Amino acid sequence: MRAARRFWPLAFLLLVLPAAAAEEVAGLPLHVQRLDPKTVRVWVGDHVSTTNVIGFATAKGIVVVDTTGVPKIDRELRGVIARELGRSDFAMLINTHEHGDHTAGNSVYADTVIVAHERCAAGMRRSPADREQVLRWQGQHIADLEKDLAKHPTASVAAKKAAEQLAFAHLNHEAWTANPELVVPTKTFADRLTLDMGDTAFELSYIGGLHSASDIAVFVPSRGILMTGDTMADRWLTDTPGCLASFVAREGVPHDFPLLLENGRRLLARKGEIRTILPGHWNGELSLAGFEARLKYVEALWDGVGRLAKEGRPLEEVHAAFPLEARFPDLAKSPGFNAFNHASTVSEIWATTTGLRNGASELFALVEAGAPEEQVRAVVADRGSRSPKYYFLEREINGRGYFFLQQQKRFPEAVRMFRINAELFPASWNVWDSLGEGLLATGDVAGARKAYEKSVQLNPENRNGKDALARIGAEAARSSS
Ligand SMILES: [Zn+2]
Repeated sequence: MRAARRFWPLAFLLLVLPAAAAEEVAGLPLHVQRLDPKTVRVWVGDHVSTTNVIGFATAKGIVVVDTTGVPKIDRELRGVIARELGRSDFAMLINTHEHGDHTAGNSVYADTVIVAHERCAAGMRRSPADREQVLRWQGQHIADLEKDLAKHPTASVAAKKAAEQLAFAHLNHEAWTANPELVVPTKTFADRLTLDMGDTAFELSYIGGLHSASDIAVFVPSRGILMTGDTMADRWLTDTPGCLASFVAREGVPHDFPLLLENGRRLLARKGEIRTILPGHWNGELSLAGFEARLKYVEALWDGVGRLAKEGRPLEEVHAAFPLEARFPDLAKSPGFNAFNHASTVSEIWATTTGLRNGASELFALVEAGAPEEQVRAVVADRGSRSPKYYFLEREINGRGYFFLQQQKRFPEAVRMFRINAELFPASWNVWDSLGEGLLATGDVAGARKAYEKSVQLNPENRNGKDALARIGAEAARSSS
């Protein structure tokens, strides 16, 4: 067959070959997008949200932005980039941020200068416990995908999608199991850095704190290309948006909102030079308007929340003053925005401005570690102190209690959280109701009855509490008869 093909007319070959011989990388379909004669974007897969890898031919060698989470894929993609650009003088790799699905292929470019934000290396390191957890999750994910694949008729679109997701999950699992030595960036910066590659400048700037601690924007003005890593996207090409799915300030991720805003403004001032914005994964798109709207959102919150915080308004009031739907109607409809993420961003901006830490998280960590009661007391006593270190939100403490109760089935820890909440917010019928639920789970029926009674006393409309009391009463009558 192959020998015969050589003699077929050329036109026929051109018609037949692209469909018949789609190129694969590690068993996944390869995509090559030529952005201009000297710039190429490559990625694998049609149904998995993989990282795109972008290669730039410059006067001082090839510059690559990002790797995938799988060195096996990156080795092949490096070959594809070299073939497409017609050269193999790789000089530099830039990581848009610390996450493994952007940095785990760094080993493939260990012969080049690797550039990233100064927080990137710390973010790449994982504790052995975290690694164990990821490996366990991957094992479960593979088992789930196998089950999913078995459900679909062979050759159906759903089967094709499941098969590709399974293949990619296996590749990731292999990469994690191999656990190779980390290859961390060799050139780092804190706020901005311009790399002169002869005919091409790469302007790097921190835009972090809303996806990871180390997100940067990579702007290449001479090619009109701005790369924004996983910080944001406003349109999805698949139903698996992956890491681009949220725009949120999370607790535990260090922020520098003023620097993010300053760098954002600098980029927007040059929007006439931006022709293409490329998020970190192939299946997300970002418009200039979407980029601008997200920066405006952070700016509005930084100014507005900051002002209320300085006036000494409590966080509950600040949340009420910035409802997502009413304040940011366009963003509320945009992918990556929801009430939960928005509330997290508002809280983080407020915490940054006031310097207060989240009491719910501190209490959760203490209870989870089985800390002695004095340590818990010390945090609880902070409420109402003249120079507080923490802020306390009733619904957050309750949420942590339900995490113990429902997700982890750690009932004594759940009760401990709910008791703390009842102590901090004794006038809330809801916290007593939750405490009743926790106590019932531990088998303390008498304690549960008292908690539910308290809840119903505070709110005679509490249907759930009344039902629980009726059930407890009926159970007592049955066991005594
Ligand atoms: Zn990613």
